[in-house]
Amino acid sequence: MNLRNIAIAAVAATLAAGLLLSQSAKKKGYRTSPTGYSDTPQLPGQTWKVHDIARPKPRVVTPGAQYGAPPSDAVVLFDGKDLSKWVVETRKGQQPANWTVANGYMEVKSGAGTLVSKEKFGDAQYHIEWAAPAEITGDSQWRGNSGVLLMSRYEIQVLDSYNNPTYADGQAGSIYGQWPPLVNASRKPGEWQSYDIIFEAPKFEAGKLARPGFVTVIHNGVVTQHRKEIIGRMAHRVVGTYAPHDPEEPLALQDHDVPVRYRNIWVRRLTGYDQP
Ligand code: MG
Repeated sequence: MNLRNIAIAAVAATLAAGLLLSQSAKKKGYRTSPTGYSDTPQLPGQTWKVHDIARPKPRVVTPGAQYGAPPSDAVVLFDGKDLSKWVVETRKGQQPANWTVANGYMEVKSGAGTLVSKEKFGDAQYHIEWAAPAEITGDSQWRGNSGVLLMSRYEIQVLDSYNNPTYADGQAGSIYGQWPPLVNASRKPGEWQSYDIIFEAPKFEAGKLARPGFVTVIHNGVVTQHRKEIIGRMAHRVVGTYAPHDPEEPLALQDHDVPVRYRNIWVRRLTGYDQP
């Protein structure tokens, strides 16, 4: 028996085993249904028919073992061990990242500079965990202030908003200076909190804004921004505006002179996932 015949015999044996399994399964009430159709109507605005058998199947992504753990296609920016995926932005330009890393988290080092990812992202899904300091040493915007700066510009505010009066569009889960969170889903200072962010990057054409950015924010499992249109870059006491930038820019974490902690940071690019 040559190799080809061995292969054919192996396939035949597998098919026979499958048939036997299917028949035995059928005996136990196993039911079958079509895996697609080709005689169905066209979906409006799409190139596919309803239940189209030829429509490409979604790629497989293995989810993390526990909620919040990075799925198989995530870019892990911080796994609790080191800052190798980051630099800091200082007045002298970018320097090696020097925020404190301990016990599986990193902590803002006051004055060290904003932490900037080496890798750049456009449309993306982010998972970020953070904790405001347990000890309260200020009020309003001096309680646990940091920030998730999408594309280094568009800030989802990080703040200790637990029983902390401050302006609505500066609370945790806000698009800073633009849109307050729909609700205040904050945990107590010192407790770990999570952001899951779905970000659609603004698009620029010929040096002008062609489409603004949009963002969805889930804070501790609660939606605080529902595909909200971003007005412009983060700004304080003025209305932020757009200025052209690259299709992909780094993620940044704000140094606002408060020792906020971060852990378990990962990103999934949403480009290349267009539905067929
Ligand atoms: Mg901030």
